[in-house]
Amino acid sequence: MAVPRVVSTRFGAGGEKHRHKPEHDRERAAVLNLVRKIIRVGRVTEPHDADPAPLEGVVAATADRLHGSVQVRQVDAGSCNGCEAEFSAAFGPVYDVERFGVRLVASPRHADVLVVTGPVTKNMAEPLVKTFEATPGPKLVIALGDCARNCGVFAGGYGVAGAVADIVPVDIEVPGCPPSPDAIVAALRQIAGR
Ligand code: SF4
Repeated sequence: MAVPRVVSTRFGAGGEKHRHKPEHDRERAAVLNLVRKIIRVGRVTEPHDADPAPLEGVVAATADRLHGSVQVRQVDAGSCNGCEAEFSAAFGPVYDVERFGVRLVASPRHADVLVVTGPVTKNMAEPLVKTFEATPGPKLVIALGDCARNCGVFAGGYGVAGAVADIVPVDIEVPGCPPSPDAIVAALRQIAGR
């Protein structure tokens, strides 16, 4: 019977013992520093004890059908990226909206909710419509930030096609320029219902 030969390069050619290298000490020290910092800092997540505000009508009925598991696709239709910065913070360790059953997905085909930022530029109007059409129902659309609601500071701009509601149906608006992560978490919690 043929004896298997060890060919792994993990321990060096021919199965030699791994030689100690200075960079391994540095990597180990970096990992230990990280572990110490995690223990020292502890949990940073903001408490959110109050129940989310209830939704009404068709929006509430649609949110109910998601059963507290909300997959979100974000669409930048022409924002300055200020809204994106706050939206990212809502998914970071401090605001941690994922603990309420809200997750980001990479495709509208996997999404329940579209979060749209910015005024809709002429170049983004058609992609936004296609993204909306590619999202399976039941679905909801959030217009995030003043630009998404009414074009904000970009109103009247030569490249602006309109607010989000001028292009696709909007269910929930989150005001602010930009909205705070707290406001973003509150809107998403309304949909998740927890
Ligand atoms: S609402 Fe304010 S932060 Fe958001 S895209 Fe418009 S200008 Fe930028």
